[in-house]
This record gives sequence, structure tokens and C-alpha cells, in this order.
Amino acid sequence: AATLHRHRQNLETLVRTDMLTGLANRREFMTRLAREAHRQSRSGRPLSVVMFDVDHFKRVNDTWGHPAGDEVLARVGEILKSHTREQVDTAARYGGEEFVLLLPETDLIGAQYVAEKISAKLRDQDFVVDGQRFQVTQSVGIAQVVEGDVGWALKVADRNLYQAKQAGRDRIVATVAFTEGASHA
Ligand code: GH3
Ligand code: MG
Ligand code: MG
Repeated sequence: AATLHRHRQNLETLVRTDMLTGLANRREFMTRLAREAHRQSRSGRPLSVVMFDVDHFKRVNDTWGHPAGDEVLARVGEILKSHTREQVDTAARYGGEEFVLLLPETDLIGAQYVAEKISAKLRDQDFVVDGQRFQVTQSVGIAQVVEGDVGWALKVADRNLYQAKQAGRDRIVATVAFTEGASHA
């Protein structure tokens, strides 16, 4: 029975985990996002969402090969993990080369600070293929959740990420996700 229990626990961990990076997967992120949103709306404490997208990643694959691309993603995962609080934050792989952080008790300034450290770390990282070095950057969109409205905060973070891309990539755009109605008031 103990073996069965352990086996089941392993399976439950697997379905929540992204295999390439070892981070939480998108599904697990969405579960935690809903939980933290609920907390945020009750407590009024800050909560921030940070979205990362590797810049010109298609070019990385095309130039250096898919395995090198995978290596970049795994390294991004490590960097995110090492810059977030173990039991408090969630670092997740959101899609192919998109990552997301859920930062409870963290306002826009705090989230920006974390994102800047992560971006700097990746920017300074050398990757090597056949003795040739290359670097990658990422663009970041941040939103601080207001009134537990995480759906809206995700949209705002995504919009900010898009703006960061438009403005030339390798940068951060951060705003408070005031609710739709309030922002027009
Ligand atoms: P942008 O700066 O606008 O974000 O450009 P981009 O090239 O990063 O954007 P795009 O969305 O066009 O390309 C994403 C690429 O990520 C395409 C896809 O092949 C690659 N990709 C997605 N998942 C994986 C993966 O698991 N491993 C590798 N190596 N590549 C992946
Ligand atoms: Mg993308
Ligand atoms: Mg990209």
C-alpha cells in the first residue's frame, strides 16, 4: 500500500510539472493563480503576475538547432527558479518559450525588481554550440492584480509583454491591472 501511495504521488507531481524545465506547467499555474486571486481579493495584499517571452527564439532554433533551443529553455527555467521564493512564488512554463511568475505579497515595484534581475542574468549567460557562443534576451510584461481579477491581470500582462516587444524587445513593461470599469472612470 505504501508503494502504491508513493507511485500515485509521483504521478500527481508529473501531471503538474513541465518535463523540459521541471517548473510548474500551465495547468498548475492556473490552479495556483485562482487560489492566490481569492486570497488577494480577501486580504487586499498585493499580487503580481510576470510574463516572459524569449526574444527571437525561432531564430535560436534555426541558427543553433532545436537541442540548443531546449537548453536555453531549461536554463531560463533554472534562472526563474533561483530568483523566486521556494514556498511562496510560482514559476511556470506557460507555453513553448513563454514563462510566467506568480508573486504573492509583491507589488509592481517588487515584481519589476525581480524581473530585472532575471533578465540581466539571462542576458549575461553564454550558450555554447560547437565552440561558438551566443546569448539570448527576453521581453517581460507585468501586471499587479486588483480586486482578485486575475483574468484581467493576465490580459494586461500579455498586453504589456506585447508592448515590450513592439518597443524593441529585451525590456519590461509593467502596470497595475485596474479593472476595466475603473480604468475608464
Ligand atoms: P519574438 O521575439 O517576437 O517572441 O519572436 P520568437 O521567434 O520568439 O516568436 P515565435 O512565437 O515566432 O517563435 C517561438 C518559437 O519557439 C517557435 C517554436 O518552434 C519554438 N519552440 C516552442 N517550444 C519549443 C521547445 O520546447 N523547444 C524548442 N527548442 N523550441 C520551441
Ligand atoms: Mg512566444
Ligand atoms: Mg518569443
